[in-house]
Amino acid sequence: MATNRTFTMIKPDAVKAGNTGAILAKMNEGGFRIVAMKKTHLSPEKAGEFYAIHKERPFYGELVEFMSSGPIVAAILEKDNAVEDFRKLIGATNPADAAPGTIRALFAKSIGENAVHGADSDENANIEGNFHFAGTEMF
Ligand code: UDP
Ligand code: MG
Repeated sequence: MATNRTFTMIKPDAVKAGNTGAILAKMNEGGFRIVAMKKTHLSPEKAGEFYAIHKERPFYGELVEFMSSGPIVAAILEKDNAVEDFRKLIGATNPADAAPGTIRALFAKSIGENAVHGADSDENANIEGNFHFAGTEMF
């Protein structure tokens, strides 16, 4: 069932660089409504749990280290066709391949430090949103 919600994180590189506000503005301009939002700092354990699906990938250790290296902004966003439209708004994983004007083209430093996360399915958006937020924090 399509929920019209997606889950995102503004990653430590973008928060550190002072790009939080500019990235939130892009999400707003893209037509996404904020359902839940917080600034937080993931422990290595929490980051490892969040990215457990990538456990066997060669970049897993680096990814966990990076995602726990500083504060992030986590959010649940709402829009028709949210998951697919948000992936379009952020662009390809590697900023070198990201379409002009996308959030990663504008703000990502590298394939690893790529400014934002976007859920890749309705099912994962729901799992990831529930990982970070209680039902009483979603409006
Ligand atoms: N990543 C990386 N090296 C790679 C591929 C991915 O460091 O070769 C990191 C990057 O931060 C990426 C995350 O792992 O956003 C999750 O990878 P995925 O393939 O799910 O990309 P995404 O869905 O974020 O575009
Ligand atoms: Mg992914």
